[in-house]
Amino acid sequence: MNEVTTTPAVLILLGPPGAGKGTQARLLEERFGLIQLSTGDLLRAAVAAGTPAGRAAKSVMEAGGLVSDDTVLAILADRMAGADVRAGVILDGFPRTAGQAEALDGLLARTGQKVGAAISLEVDDEAMVGRVAGRFTCATCGEGYHDTGKPTARAGTCDKCGGTAFKRRADDNAETARARLQAYHAQTAPLIAHYRTLGVLESVDAMGAIGDIADALGTIVARQTG
Ligand code: ADP
Repeated sequence: MNEVTTTPAVLILLGPPGAGKGTQARLLEERFGLIQLSTGDLLRAAVAAGTPAGRAAKSVMEAGGLVSDDTVLAILADRMAGADVRAGVILDGFPRTAGQAEALDGLLARTGQKVGAAISLEVDDEAMVGRVAGRFTCATCGEGYHDTGKPTARAGTCDKCGGTAFKRRADDNAETARARLQAYHAQTAPLIAHYRTLGVLESVDAMGAIGDIADALGTIVARQTG
């Protein structure tokens, strides 16, 4: 019997902390109906829930280091088993090491899938520390702000939903941001060459306006989702 099978798109966003991976992944999720899969978000949820994985990850995350491949892979494999990911996924913050990239290729091969595109967001390092150190979000609707780059129009009130409570990530300070940048260059940037070799690397200038970057990414993703 002939069954119609579709291969869901698997897209990776690569880039240092502050490059805008999360912002762009959410926009792509809305536009293309893909699922954003952020290992940072999954780990923060595990920390908040106090699971064994979360307890192992907490101090490493606060220091700006990378959580062990085993911990991250267990969390990711769990999430990849969800039925909703059949729509296709945008991996935001994963893989971050050569071991994770290999494990991902193995995980996908089991279901006949492959990475469709790994998109590198190209940014200036120095600007990243400033971006990360000043960012905060509305606790109600999640709208993102920045102390100097994008303050709320009225102090203490979210422009989008009127909420008055805001959140800052524990690791969004200048010192930890520098450690995260170092980890990125030492362990994650080498993956750019890995995906170039596989013929799936795309690069996008990510220093411009959010909307322009979203357009550039959209063009690449449209090719993947047909
Ligand atoms: P950013 O990309 O802005 O640094 P994330 O939310 O992606 O933020 O990650 C926050 C922290 O979570 C990282 O500094 C690291 O400690 C941990 N983390 C997230 N994803 C991974 C991963 N794939 N491997 C190891 N550690 C990770």
